[in-house]
Amino acid sequence: MSDFPTAGDPSYSDPDTLGAIPPVVSVTYCADCGASANRGSHIACRQHLEVLPPTYCTTCRRQLTVESQGSEWTATCKKHGETTGSTATS
Ligand SMILES: [Zn+2]
Ligand SMILES: [Zn+2]
Repeated sequence: MSDFPTAGDPSYSDPDTLGAIPPVVSVTYCADCGASANRGSHIACRQHLEVLPPTYCTTCRRQLTVESQGSEWTATCKKHGETTGSTATS
């Protein structure tokens, strides 16, 4: 019954992908509003991102888990791992 080559396929072990997300992605998403980064202008979003941590993964559009300590933040995508940064407080 198990015809799927699950063993020895480390690149697709995440069951959450459902095969919908190719390994190479040409479209990226706005980290602030989650819309396609190629569509429209995200000027306000970029301003947000200077003072706020990102909300969405720019690669897969998953909502990030954000932890912040002071001006330092760590945003974690379930699929793509951590991104760290700091917000401008001045
Ligand atoms: Zn945006
Ligand atoms: Zn991601």
